[in-house]
Formats: sequence, structure tokens, C-alpha cells
Amino acid sequence: MVTPVILWFRQDLRLSDQAALIAAAREAPVIPIYVLDDAAPRQWKMGGAARWWLHHSLKDLEERLRAKGSRLILRHGDSAEQLAAVAKESGAERVHALRHYEPWWRNAEKGVGKRLDLCLHDGGLLLPPGAVRTGGGGAYRIYTPFARAVMEHMPPAAPAAPARAPARIDAPSRWPDSDSLADWALLPEKPDWAARFSEDWTPGEEEARRRVEDFVEHVGAYDAIRNLPSEEGTSRLSPHLHFGEVSPAYVWHHMADAPGDATVFLKELIWRDYAHTQICALPAYGSQNAREAFDAMPWRDLREAKADFTAWKKGRTGYPIVDAGMRQLWATGWMHNRVRMIAASFLIKHLLIDWRHGAKWFWDTLVDADYANNSVNWQWVAGSGVDANIFSRIMAPLTQSEKFDAADYIRQWVPELAHLDDKAIHDPDAHDARPRDYPPKCIGHREGRERALAAQRQSKG
Ligand SMILES: Cc1cc2nc3c(=O)[nH]c(=O)nc-3n(C[C@H](O)[C@H](O)[C@H](O)COP(=O)(O)OP(=O)(O)OC[C@H]3O[C@@H](n4cnc5c(N)ncnc54)[C@H](O)[C@@H]3O)c2cc1C
Repeated sequence: MVTPVILWFRQDLRLSDQAALIAAAREAPVIPIYVLDDAAPRQWKMGGAARWWLHHSLKDLEERLRAKGSRLILRHGDSAEQLAAVAKESGAERVHALRHYEPWWRNAEKGVGKRLDLCLHDGGLLLPPGAVRTGGGGAYRIYTPFARAVMEHMPPAAPAAPARAPARIDAPSRWPDSDSLADWALLPEKPDWAARFSEDWTPGEEEARRRVEDFVEHVGAYDAIRNLPSEEGTSRLSPHLHFGEVSPAYVWHHMADAPGDATVFLKELIWRDYAHTQICALPAYGSQNAREAFDAMPWRDLREAKADFTAWKKGRTGYPIVDAGMRQLWATGWMHNRVRMIAASFLIKHLLIDWRHGAKWFWDTLVDADYANNSVNWQWVAGSGVDANIFSRIMAPLTQSEKFDAADYIRQWVPELAHLDDKAIHDPDAHDARPRDYPPKCIGHREGRERALAAQRQSKG
């Protein structure tokens, strides 16, 4: 009997450009496994919308594996224990996996490494964290010099064509037991708040690649329209990238060969690498201010601010651009980047609610919820991040809404306002045009701004 090897899938649910699969398939019969470990991430247990995605992505992966003569074994519980149990049942000793940088994955890797021969491979980022260093040998803290240094190493190493995906994956002589995906109950039922998700999304590797091919045609216009929420100006690759259904290297190579100039898009892709570098340096980035000075910020107590927080989550703040974004998030599991910034800034500054509460809400509702990207971006908006916007630079949601031409976006997501013209729709109150079923502003812009600035002064003592 040939000793099989284990292939440990995590946020890399693809068969192409999967270095761990290529190494495993070359070596021996392969036992592909996904372990659902809800305990290790603790407060960062996968949120509801991401679980919806995971269900469909695993189903897709299982079908692809079967087409290559293999299967996907599902287990739940502690990753190291489950992998060790499967190794014992099958006689496997070695585990191949891609590296991941969330603190709970790094701990799990240590745990697996203690029990089995764990071979980790790169492939989740353009460059592994630490591959570029400052002149002094340290990790980059600021995005712009980091991006410049990454650019010097681009394009990323492309996998040799025959290695893209093995034509067949040898099966072990006996398959270990597997959970059934349905028993994991990853999909919401009562109520099925994800009912609309499948109108916007098809999780899985094929769709991820289709989106890449499709976006190649549009990437040249990215710089001009990426900030306009009423346009389909961005790639919408974020959940596919988060779950690793497509590799960033694959995206890079396709966009770099596009007919239009892809530079601005590629720099956004580097933000993803940057965010992962930051969580390596500060694993608690999701729950701890990167700048200590922010520990003294007098955020409102959530009990006192409960009505405002609920209005924000439900998209009923009285600020149409914020409400449109929050409703898009609830309905589709995704929000346009410009609107993410406006909605996050509104929560943190106008409502003076700690960024961590907003980040948790996004964690639960985004299909692309990603520990590095979410934490780093929330702290960027708050001003508490390593590289961040200045707190006192307070975004004016009404001005942003007009500037970025959000009228049609608001019409789509706030139907009570759909009849308003392009002038009134950004600020119905100011035009005496607010319908009865749309709430008044929960706080005035000037009042919110002054309260935020006063809080900052107080925090500085
Ligand atoms: C408050 C806040 C929270 C966020 N939370 C997340 C999150 O949980 N998961 C997530 O993937 N992105 C997050 N982002 C970043 C960004 O909004 C999304 O990556 C982007 O909107 C996804 O849409 P797209 O794929 O069409 O992006 P595109 O504009 O087409 O960009 C291509 C890819 O580059 C990466 N990227 C783009 N912008 C950023 C950025 N600012 N930071 C890191 N990577 C970026 C993403 O992987 C994205 O898919 C957040 C931004 C803010 C302001």
C-alpha cells in the first residue's frame, strides 16, 4: 500500500495554481481535507455571510476533485486533532498546505507541525510577508513605500503551465470518514437572509476565473470609475480572493496583460498584501488600536448609543449614501469600497462608536470578510492604524455622495428615495423632500463633526 499524503485546504479552495496540491499530487495518493474549526478563531469565528460562501465553495471544490478522481473529506473541530486523526486512520505522515497569516491559522500550523510533517507553501499573496524589507531590514509600516518595493518584485512568479492543475489526483486505497456538508448548516434558514446572494454571486473557482477574464476588458477604466458606486467599476473579486478560489498571481498576470493600463488596479491588489503584512506584525490588529493614543478615545457606551448603532446597521441613519451602503451590505454581502469608507467613517466619527463594533458587523455580514483587510481598513478610517487617515479629517457624507455621483446607487438601495431628483436625493431634508417613510438624520453633520473633534481633544488630555 502506498502511504498517502494529506492536502489541508483552508482559504485556498482551488485546484489551479495551488502549490500544496501540486506538491502533494507529485508525491503520493492525496487525501484532500477541509476542517471547520470554529473554536480556534474565537471572536473571529467565520461570520454568517462568509459561511454562506463557504458552503457553496466547498461544494464546488468537491465536484472538481471528483472530476479528477478524488474527494473532499470534511471534518470539524481542532485542526491539529482532526488532521492527526485522519493521518492515523490512513497511515499518512505528511501534510501539504498553503501558508495563511491570520493568528489562529498560524497557531494551528504550529499545532499541526508538532504532530505531523507539515510542508507549507506560498501562494495566498503576491509575495510572502517579509519578502520586502526597509533599508534598515525592518517590515514596512506605511503602504506607499511598501507598494513601491513590492512593485520592484513584480510580476509574481507564474506557475509553470503543466503545473497549473494536475490532470488526475491519485486516490488513497481507503477513504477516511467525512462529515456531510449539509450537517454543518452553513446556510441560513429561518429567516433566509441570504436569499438574494445568489443573484450577485456564484462561489467557486470557475466563476472566479470568469470574473478575472471579464474584468480584463474593463480594467483600463478602473482608475476613472472605481470610486463611483453607481457604476460597476471594480472587479468584485474580493470574496473569490479571500477564499482563495483564484490566486492573486493569476489575477496579476491577467491584468498586467490587459489592453488598458492596469497600474491603479494592481496597486489596490497590493493593499491586500500590505494588510496581511500588518497582521503578521500585530496579530491583534482586529481588536487592538495599532496606535496606543487611541486607547484613550472616549467612545460612546454602546448601551447609550444603541439606537444609533441599530439605525446604522439597518440603513436608517437619514444619510442616504450611508443607508444605501448598509442596505447593499445586508442584501448582497458586499459593499462598494468608497461607500465602505463613508459608512465606516460615519459610524466612527459622526456616531462616535468604537471602530471595533463596526468591524464586527462587517465581519458577520460581508461575504469577503477578511481578518487582515477588514481590520487594517477599519483602523485606516478610524485613524488608529499603523498607516491611517488623520482622525480629524472627517468625511462629509453628503458632499461625498454628490462628488461621487451616488444618485442611482441610492435609488437602487433606498427605494423610498427613488423618486427624488439628482439634487435632492443626496440630502432630502435640505430640499424639503424627505418622504415620511424615510428617517430624519440621526445627527447633524456639524454636530457630529464637533462631537468627534471634542472627543479627540479629550483623548489627548
Ligand atoms: C471599512 C472597510 C472594511 C473593509 N473590509 C474588507 C474585508 O473584510 N475584506 C476585503 O477583501 N476587503 C475589505 N475592504 C477593502 C475593499 O473595500 C474591498 O476589498 C473591495 O471593495 C472589494 O471589491 P472589489 O473586489 O471589487 O475590489 P477591487 O477594487 O476590484 O480591488 C481588487 C482587489 O484588491 C484588494 N483590495 C482592494 N482594495 C483594498 C483595500 N483597501 N484593502 C485591502 N485589499 C484591497 C481586494 O482583494 C480586491 O478584491 C474594506 C474596506 C473598508 C473601507
